[in-house]
Amino acid sequence: MEQNKKGKLFVVSGPSGVGKGTLVNLLKTRHPELVLSVSATTRKPRRGEKNGMHYFFVQKEVFLDRVNKGKFIEWAEFAGNYYGTDRAFVEENLDKSRHVLLEIDVKGALQVKEKMNSAILIFIEPPSVEELKKRLFKRKTDSGNEIQKRLNIVKSELDKKHRFDYSLVNKCLEQAYAELERLVYGA
Ligand code: 5GP
Repeated sequence: MEQNKKGKLFVVSGPSGVGKGTLVNLLKTRHPELVLSVSATTRKPRRGEKNGMHYFFVQKEVFLDRVNKGKFIEWAEFAGNYYGTDRAFVEENLDKSRHVLLEIDVKGALQVKEKMNSAILIFIEPPSVEELKKRLFKRKTDSGNEIQKRLNIVKSELDKKHRFDYSLVNKCLEQAYAELERLVYGA
């Protein structure tokens, strides 16, 4: 009997504010069959964010218990909060031949590659750090203090770009989207 082919795992990463979410949501709209993983986080919900849709919002104790039980395929601390990807969800979908996409931070992306070498890592770069700063202030989702924490880690994130399989600059959204779509679904 022919064995079902496994789906591919894509990991989209890059600094906060670079536009990962916009690009990934566009991809999901145009390719509804793509499976997006919903992460668990200890961060407080932002206005309009829904539990189970944007994230599973959990207490720190619950999160750490899941870490101890090996429930996450990867997890990381980012700007003072924990974020993690559910292992069972990802594996079950890959086993059903579905492509799965994770939108996670750079440390988490590199952990995924260590565990699953077949994962395809895509780094989204800002046109410049100045532009990134402007976008973070413009989106008004985080306080000044939160933004500063996020900007403090940008350099170390950009320094890890060479460890990704692909990178693309999000200067013009349509162009960046076209590149992302080509990487996931081919030319
Ligand atoms: P935000 O607080 O802005 O929603 O997310 C902060 C950062 O955490 C973003 O770079 C986002 O991609 C990343 N992130 C979201 N979910 C996960 C996850 O499950 N694991 C890791 N390592 N990072 C995540």
